[in-house]
Amino acid sequence: MNVYDSDRMADILAPLGYEPTEQVGQADMVILNTCHIREKAAEKVYSELGRMRSLKANRKADGQDMILAVAGCVAQAEGEEMLRRAPYVDMVVGPQSYHRLPELIAQLSRQGNHVLDTDFPVDSKFDHLPRNDRASGPAAFLSVQEGCDRFCTFCVVPYTRGAEFSRPVDHIVAEAQDLRDGGVREITLLGQNVNAFHGLGPDGKDWGLGRLIRELARIEGIERLRYTTSHPRDMDDALIEAHAEVAELMPYLHLPVQSGSDGILTAMNRRHSADDYRRIVDRLRRAVPDIALSSDFIVGFPGESDQDFADTLRLVTEMNYAQAYSFKYSARPGTPAAVLDNQVPEAVKSERLAMLQELLNAQQMAFNQACIGRTLPVLLERRGRDDNQLVGRSPYMQAVHLSLPAVARQRMMGTIQPVVISAAHPNSLSGRVALDAAAFDGGGGTVGPNPASVNGTLGGSA
Ligand code: SAH
Ligand code: SF4
Repeated sequence: MNVYDSDRMADILAPLGYEPTEQVGQADMVILNTCHIREKAAEKVYSELGRMRSLKANRKADGQDMILAVAGCVAQAEGEEMLRRAPYVDMVVGPQSYHRLPELIAQLSRQGNHVLDTDFPVDSKFDHLPRNDRASGPAAFLSVQEGCDRFCTFCVVPYTRGAEFSRPVDHIVAEAQDLRDGGVREITLLGQNVNAFHGLGPDGKDWGLGRLIRELARIEGIERLRYTTSHPRDMDDALIEAHAEVAELMPYLHLPVQSGSDGILTAMNRRHSADDYRRIVDRLRRAVPDIALSSDFIVGFPGESDQDFADTLRLVTEMNYAQAYSFKYSARPGTPAAVLDNQVPEAVKSERLAMLQELLNAQQMAFNQACIGRTLPVLLERRGRDDNQLVGRSPYMQAVHLSLPAVARQRMMGTIQPVVISAAHPNSLSGRVALDAAAFDGGGGTVGPNPASVNGTLGGSA
């Protein structure tokens, strides 16, 4: 979501004459868009600010100015405190106020002092942002929902992003059409708790995520849809049915469980049991047998015993994840779990994280290896590290690398191609464009005309 938000900040500043630069030392304005989810992320902001401070001083020595702004959830959480700790920061702006950046810049130039905006305005920022039609590739993000009312006891999101809010369906559809007009083929719908989506539909009723997905799938040219991040409690029937019936909805789901222990899940206020999660996954797999499942895990939540952790390992073994993210519990100021007195020692957390990651990595590798020999539709999104490479995504969210001659690279960029998978790596696959498009066997996404027949020989694995 921060990637999406940063792009929108660039959009809103464009009419003022700002444009993005890679040369940070020469920038008139630097915005750090920050994350507060774990301590490490939040601390990084201050070390980065130290670096910006000297760049700002260098510019000053050259007689030029640099506005230094901090946006995002660290800005929201720290507010005034940030200006005390880093007084050279000019602007602190929370995630619900960034549509006010032009106003804040004007205010700053008027008063020449710090400006701070960490309100949760009544009117949504989405009503004030310019249209999002600046597609930067064939795959794009689209925020449909923000904030969260679930209050898991470890999590800062409800405090930094604020209350749950869903955008109206017609605004989302218009944004998706604009993205399509800009060449986007795949859209990932975003929200902190995206399947809690309940946006106002054109019929005056609240629409859930399943219904929204069906509507977006009807837009000509949008070939792939994904969404993230979901809460197990909000996986309703309509959404599971959409997985079974909407071809554009990719067979991949990031559905965080956090822990396999019912005691820990209760202490986390997740409001579902490990068995509830098993049942949801079971229904999803009946709807989409090849669905690639992903999750988040927290190890070392306060009070987590060896048995609790063993329950997590057991759940992981049963679920067989295609990929996952795992973290050591990080106490976040202001959250209920941070003040519990049964905190788990750091060394135990590290040991558990290593064990969990070993299991998850093995599952991911096995999932990737099982793709060897299959022909998967791959949306080619960007150039690879090597000049002759293109990188795309499989329906299952794996990065796929291909080596191609220049003509083919140009022709295929931004299209979905059938790719024969020839090798599996821990975090990616490699392959070559299928010479026989009929061999295609992957779920989701149509396969475009096969330029292989036009160009003769193509491919070679990356
Ligand atoms: N809304 C999503 C998750 C949003 S935060 C959900 O409900 O699952 C992304 C991930 O960060 C979480 O799934 C969790 O695994 C991790 N996370 C959040 N707070 C954390 C904390 N205090 N310590 C460690 N990991 C945390
Ligand atoms: Fe945080 Fe997700 Fe829980 Fe909301 S549902 S409080 S975003 S972990």
